[in-house]
Amino acid sequence: MSYKHILVAVDLTEECDPVIKKAIGLAIGSEAKLSLVHIVEPMAMAFGGDVPMDLSQLQQQQFDQAKEKLAALKLKYPDVHTGDSHLTYGQPRQEIHNLAKEHNVDLIVVGSHGRHGLSLLLGSTANDVLHGAPCDVLAVRLVKRTE
Ligand code: AMP
Repeated sequence: MSYKHILVAVDLTEECDPVIKKAIGLAIGSEAKLSLVHIVEPMAMAFGGDVPMDLSQLQQQQFDQAKEKLAALKLKYPDVHTGDSHLTYGQPRQEIHNLAKEHNVDLIVVGSHGRHGLSLLLGSTANDVLHGAPCDVLAVRLVKRTE
């Protein structure tokens, strides 16, 4: 089975390198377009939506930092230039699913966090993205250095 458009979800930590490398290998093998996505989660959401202070400046800084990191990733992996890179606010599962539908993505690639002692358990985002996904999802197994 060959894919035409692969979307890689990156959390912009050092753990996204093996995820991108795996996606590049697949994209080259099937001559697929390769795109990146990072979602900045609204800070108010992390605090349960009820925050007694203005977080907009902090949120903007977080967005700007993510933009720089995403640009650095595109330089590091020139193959990613074959597609687009998306940076958006929201809830990862919802935004990734929406992008996948809008851009005719046929494979979403995420990292699956290896957890200590239970290394086959999926990380929460990987698990979330899998449910109700509009296309195939590949979870690249990531092993914690402590294992
Ligand atoms: P986690 O839920 O932290 O275990 O993350 C598992 C995987 O989900 C990561 O390796 C990424 O592929 C993806 N992911 C996590 N957070 C984000 C995010 N904010 N934007 C895009 N992808 C993400």
